[in-house]
Amino acid sequence: MSSLGKGIASASIGTLLQARGYSIRMKKLDPYINVDPGTMSPYRHGEVFVMEDGCEADLDFGHYERFTGLQCTANDSLTTGKIYEKVLLQERRGDYLGSDVQVIPHITNEIKNFITAGHEYVDFTICEIGGTVGDIEGLPYIEAIRQLKIELGSAKVACVHLTYLPYMKTSEELKTKPTQHSVKLLQSMGVQPDIILCRCEKEVNYDIKAKLSMFCNVKKENVVEALDAENIYLIPHRYHLSGLDRCICVHFGLETEEQEKLAEMKIREKWSSVEHAISTPSKTVKIAVVGKYTKLKDAYISLSQAICHGGIAHDAGIEIDWVDATMDQRDLESRLRAVSGILVPGGFDVGGAEGKIVAIKFAREKRIPFFGICLGLQLAVIESCRNVGGAINATSREFSDVGEMVIDFMDKWKLNGVVEARDPSGAKGGTMRLGSYLCKISIGTLAHRIYATTEITERHRHRFEVNIKKYKELFDKAGLEFSGMSSDGLLPEIVERHDHPFFIATQAHPEFKSHPFAPHPLFSNFIKAAIDYSIG
Ligand code: GLN
Repeated sequence: MSSLGKGIASASIGTLLQARGYSIRMKKLDPYINVDPGTMSPYRHGEVFVMEDGCEADLDFGHYERFTGLQCTANDSLTTGKIYEKVLLQERRGDYLGSDVQVIPHITNEIKNFITAGHEYVDFTICEIGGTVGDIEGLPYIEAIRQLKIELGSAKVACVHLTYLPYMKTSEELKTKPTQHSVKLLQSMGVQPDIILCRCEKEVNYDIKAKLSMFCNVKKENVVEALDAENIYLIPHRYHLSGLDRCICVHFGLETEEQEKLAEMKIREKWSSVEHAISTPSKTVKIAVVGKYTKLKDAYISLSQAICHGGIAHDAGIEIDWVDATMDQRDLESRLRAVSGILVPGGFDVGGAEGKIVAIKFAREKRIPFFGICLGLQLAVIESCRNVGGAINATSREFSDVGEMVIDFMDKWKLNGVVEARDPSGAKGGTMRLGSYLCKISIGTLAHRIYATTEITERHRHRFEVNIKKYKELFDKAGLEFSGMSSDGLLPEIVERHDHPFFIATQAHPEFKSHPFAPHPLFSNFIKAAIDYSIG
C-alpha cells in the first residue's frame, strides 16, 4: 500500500550497496496513466520532484538523490502514460506493421527494456515498482518482472517485497496474514519474492520470521524487519542491522566475512554524523511554513528535508509550524509571532495568496528572517510593490486579469540560447520553465555571501516571471534588489531587501538540491539567521 516506504526502502538499498563499494542506478516504474505527475495535485500525489534535466517525477526520486547522492534523469522514470505514448507513436509510424499491438509482449518489452537499459555501466540497478500488488494498472509490470527473472536468471535478479505487519493492540501481536495474502497474490502472477521486508512498529521475533518463511516460501534469513523510525535518516543503518544488504549480497553470491565487517564500518561512518545531529541537537528553532497544502506533509517533502538539513548544518533541531495560508489574518499573525523564521514555499493559483502576502509583510516589518521560494518570490515582489512601492493593485497574471501585472507571462525570451514563450492557451503538461538554469549573482549582495560564487544553477518549475521589462522603476521604488539574474540578464532569479537582516527569495527550487551530507546554503543560512533571531 502507499506510504509504506517503498521509496525510502529502495533508497536505503541503494546507499547500503554504495557503502559496500558497488555502483548503482535508481529507477522507478509508476503504473498510473499520466505521462508524468506534473499535472497532479500535491494532495493526490504529494510533491512533484524536479530533476536536473527538467523531468517532473515522483517524490521518491527525492529520496533516491538525497540518500545516494546520485543525479537521476528522465531515463530513470517510467509511467504507463510514457510507455503508451511511445508505443502508440511507434504504431502510427508503422513499426509494428502486420501485428496487433498487445500488452504482452509490446508493453512488457518496453518495461523490460527500461529496466535493463544502461545496466552495463553499473553493478546494480535498483528499480522500484509503485502501487500495490493486485492493482489493475500494475499487472503488466509484475508480468515484466516475471519474464525478466526467467530471461536473466535468478542469480541476476532479486525481488524484494515490502509488506506491512499490523500490530494488534488487543492481542499484543504482529499479524502476518496480510503479508501471506499479498505474497500469495504475487505468486499467482508467477513472481516469488526472494526477500520480504516487513514494515512494522514492533520487533519481528524469530517465530514470526519462521512463520512467514514457511507460508511465503522464503528463506528465514531473508525475512527482514523494517522497524518504524523517528527520522528517515536513521533507516539505512537500521535496515543494515536487520540484515537487508547482507541478504541481497548473499543472493548474488557476493558476501564475504571480511566485506561484512568493512560494510558495517563504512555505513556507520557515513550515516553516524547525520544520525547524531538529528537525534541530539544542541538547540531547537521554530520555523513557519506558510502554504496551501499544509495538511499533507508529502506535498512539501523535499522542502521539509532541506529545512532539516539546514538544522543539521548548525546542530539545531527544527520545529516546523505548518501554517495554512487561508486562515484568518489575526490568527495567522499570532501564529507567526511565535516563530524565528518565515518561509513561503512554491505553489499554484490564487488560493491562500493573500494570507501568504500578510505573512511576508509581517516578516518584513517585524524583521523576522524570510525565505521565499518560487511563488514565495513572486508574492514577496507583489507585497513590496503594494506596501512599499504604493502600487496597491499589484498582482500576478496567475491570480487576476486586472491590476499591475508585476508577475506575468513573459513573451518570447531567450534562455540558455533557446527562445521560450508561455501563454494562457498553452498546454499544461510539461510546459513550464523546467529544470536547471544558470543564474548570475551580483557581488556584495546577501545572495553572494550565501552562495560564495557569482554563477550558480538551480532547478525551476514555474510558468510566470517577474515583469522587470515593464516595472523596473516600481521595483526600485519598492526597495527590491535583484541580486541574481538569468544568464542573459533578462529575468530576475533572486530578490532581496537590503533594509532587512535576512530577506531573500528565489525563483528556483533549491530544496531539490539539498542533501543531508551537503545542506543547501540558502537553507543553512536561513536557519542560521533564525537561530540568531531567536537569541535576539
Ligand atoms: N505558480 C507560479 C508559476 O507558475 C509559481 C510556481 C511554483 O511555485 N513552483 O510561476
